[in-house]
Amino acid sequence: MASKEARERRLKEIQEIAEGWGKMIAREAFPNGPGLDVTLADMEEYAIAASRALVKGAVETMSGEQGQQFGEEAPCPSCGKICPLEIVSRAIVVRGGDAALHEPVGHCPTCRRDFFPSAAGAED
Ligand SMILES: [Zn+2]
Repeated sequence: MASKEARERRLKEIQEIAEGWGKMIAREAFPNGPGLDVTLADMEEYAIAASRALVKGAVETMSGEQGQQFGEEAPCPSCGKICPLEIVSRAIVVRGGDAALHEPVGHCPTCRRDFFPSAAGAED
């Protein structure tokens, strides 16, 4: 994990990039500029929709890439048998929106239980 200073510097860089995307969203929503009939609430509606979509895309991409790091098999936490993993999708609510987590889940035929390698250490 990066140092706190490096993390804050990176967060600031990403905020600047996203602010640029916000300007692009404004041009996309109103190619000729917002007319005088457009309210602040109208503008906010476009911004919030874009924000929620951005959160969804970012969280799903990062968690999906993390899930792939578990590979195709994992040991059952109860008996240690190596079991195949499959990716399951789970809808979650995150700060700023909704997302679908695509996480690996194993099923141990011996113990007749499902387990999530990503939660190792969080259970038992
Ligand atoms: Zn087992």
